[in-house]
Amino acid sequence: MTNPVANQPRRRGTCPGVLAPMRVGDGFLLRVRVPAGMLPAEHARRIADLGDRYGNGLIDLSQRGNLQLRGIADDGLEPVTEALRGMGYVSSDAASEAVRNVLCSPTAGLDPAALMDVRAVVRTLDARLAEDTALHGLPPKFGWLVCGGGIGHLADSSTDVRFDAVDAERFRVSLGGTLAKAAPLGLCQVEEVADVALALGCAFLNLRASLPEPPRRMAGLVAAIGTEGIGKRLSASISPLPPGERIKVRGTHLMDVFGSAEPPHPNLLPGGEKGSIAGKVVAFPFGRLTCATLAALASACAEIRITPWRALILVAPSPDAETVAHGYGAILSHADRRLKLTACSGAGGCDVGTTDTYATALAIAERAGPLLDHVRMVHVSGCAKGCAHPAIADVTLTARDGVYDVALNAKPGDESRHMQGHTGLSPADAVARVADLLTEESTGA
Ligand code: SF4
Repeated sequence: MTNPVANQPRRRGTCPGVLAPMRVGDGFLLRVRVPAGMLPAEHARRIADLGDRYGNGLIDLSQRGNLQLRGIADDGLEPVTEALRGMGYVSSDAASEAVRNVLCSPTAGLDPAALMDVRAVVRTLDARLAEDTALHGLPPKFGWLVCGGGIGHLADSSTDVRFDAVDAERFRVSLGGTLAKAAPLGLCQVEEVADVALALGCAFLNLRASLPEPPRRMAGLVAAIGTEGIGKRLSASISPLPPGERIKVRGTHLMDVFGSAEPPHPNLLPGGEKGSIAGKVVAFPFGRLTCATLAALASACAEIRITPWRALILVAPSPDAETVAHGYGAILSHADRRLKLTACSGAGGCDVGTTDTYATALAIAERAGPLLDHVRMVHVSGCAKGCAHPAIADVTLTARDGVYDVALNAKPGDESRHMQGHTGLSPADAVARVADLLTEESTGA
């Protein structure tokens, strides 16, 4: 079966899928939506083989907990699609694939501190979304999230409809944002999640159509008509929240542990200890790994979980899993400064990019150690679109025509925040200036 939408032009706001591959700078990009982010080791090995045979051997981990195969050749689309279909990762058509945008706690079933194991809930929701053609008109980035709490909680992930466990049987339903910012709607039982999610998707479509300027995301609809207006249109029942209801996030955030500047732990998140998970976390600079790396990791565990933090969790790791991961360049220490750097694929993988963003970011990791110890994030963006991190970072480098503009506390392309004397810099000069920022800021230079 051929891929009917393979040559559609790239549009801002679109999302690539297996049935909607996106042509980028290094060939076709195929986003594989893995239900609940759970990838059996055998499937990981087969996907790695597909990427090696038909692509350029590179894989990206997306912030929605998906795998992205890169550099797929035109004549590779059909065999890759059919192989992924055989593994159960391809829906019947592009619309039903696109709507399966569900983020799941990556530590579900691995974390004794979690309130609930949400894997079955997410699998059911994933299947129901694909089946319900009424939802296939949702905007491409419209998403859902199911969080069971604990060490792998998703409090900081932003989405359109979120279900956060409040105990072993109920979820708090909220709309449009992170746990702290989403507008609370009410409570629902575990078995009601799919019905409530589908009803909210339908309500969004109906209500946005009635507005003069239809919002593209749930946060916009909440801003326009409020949660009461949305709740009235729901066919599914949601219990009101008790007054003052709060969600407590239990346990330490996985990436707070992983991203902190504390001394390296000799065995990051070891299984069986208090506050730990039954798996091994391995991260990769900018969420990029090779197919050879994925295959090697798959040989060292029983299952791989894909996180939204550009890291993988190896479930039931073999005794040599850490050695294997280290050999393939994985980040194993929460003190690794590369965790402070974010970059899009830039000129190496995007037709819009004009600089080697990864090389610039890695040079900053080498040269700007003291600065990285003082900031949360340095973002190297290939252009003002800011695909890797559209939000504010402590230091943002935005490329244009082969040079960089440097800004503090800014989003990519925020010209009002470009630092005087730090615009139009060659990549080497930009790295040097960023390395000197700490000195410049402390001396007021
Ligand atoms: S931000 Fe990076 S990946 Fe996105 S369009 Fe610009 S260069 Fe391409």
